[in-house]
Amino acid sequence: STSSSAPGGPTAGNEQVQHVIAVASGKGGVGKSTVAVNLAVALAQRGLRTGLLDADVYGPSVPAMMGVEGKPELTADGRLMIPKTGHEGVKVMSVGLLLPGKAEGDKHGDQPVVWRAPLALKLLDQMVRQVDWGPLDIMVIDMPPGTGDIQLSMSQRVSLSGALVVSTPQEIALLDARKAVNMFRRVDVPVLGFVENMNRFVCSKCGEEEYIFGSDGLQADALRLQVELLASIPLSTGLRKACDQGVPTVVSDPQGPVAHEFRELARKA
Ligand code: ADP
Repeated sequence: STSSSAPGGPTAGNEQVQHVIAVASGKGGVGKSTVAVNLAVALAQRGLRTGLLDADVYGPSVPAMMGVEGKPELTADGRLMIPKTGHEGVKVMSVGLLLPGKAEGDKHGDQPVVWRAPLALKLLDQMVRQVDWGPLDIMVIDMPPGTGDIQLSMSQRVSLSGALVVSTPQEIALLDARKAVNMFRRVDVPVLGFVENMNRFVCSKCGEEEYIFGSDGLQADALRLQVELLASIPLSTGLRKACDQGVPTVVSDPQGPVAHEFRELARKA
C-alpha cells in the first residue's frame, strides 16, 4: 500500500521521494514497460506527484511510450538534470535520454550494448541522485528484464517500497516470473503482486474473449507463491497502437477496459 512507509528509511537515496515501486519481469517483451508507463500515468491521474525512471538498460522504451525526447537540460546551478514532463505531469527520466546515439562505426545502430553491472548501477545512481525530481509521492522504476546480477544489484541499491512482477501466462514466462519473485524476496523487497499481461484476446468485432494461453496460469502461481494477482491486461490493438504513438492507454482511451485495469492497479499498488 502506498500509505505505509517504506522499510529502511529514505527511499531511492532521495529523501524527497516517498515511495519507490519497481516494475520487473523475468523475461523481456512481456509488457513490463507498457505496464510501468500506464501505471505511472494512472497514479498521476489519482493526483499523486509521480516520477517514472526508466532503468531498462537493455531497451529503454519509456521515452517513446511517453512521447518525450532530447537530452535533459540542467538546473541553473548546473548540478542536476531536469526530468522531462510526460502525460499528466509525470516526471520522466530514462537511460535512453542519457546514452549517446549509436557508436562510431555502428552505421545501422544494430550493435549490442554490452552492460557490466557497475556501469548500469552508476547510471541508476545518476538518475536517482542527479535528477531534480523535486518532492514526489511515488516513483515507478522500469527495471531491466531478468534476474541477473544487474537486476539484483539495482534492487538492493534503491530502497524499494515494493515490486510488481509482470508476466504473460505462458509457462515459459511464468518460470522466469517465479525467479523474479524469489529474487526480490531474497533482498527483502516486498512483492506487491503479479500483473498478468496479454492473458486473453478480445475480438474487436464481437467482443468475445479468448484465453489463448489458458485461463489460470498466473492465478495458480499467485496462490502458490502467495503473491496477489493485481491485474489482468488483455491483448489489445488499441493499447499497442497508443504505446507506439507515445500516448498511454489511460490517456488515449480512459473509458476503455484496459484503462480501467490500470486504474485498479494504481489503486491497489
Ligand atoms: P517489455 O518492457 O516487457 O520488454 P513492452 O512493454 O516494451 O515489453 O511491450 C512489448 C511490445 O508489446 C510493445 O510493442 C507493446 O506495445 C506490446 N504490448 C504490450 N502489452 C500489450 C497488450 N496487452 N496488448 C497488445 N500489445 C501489447
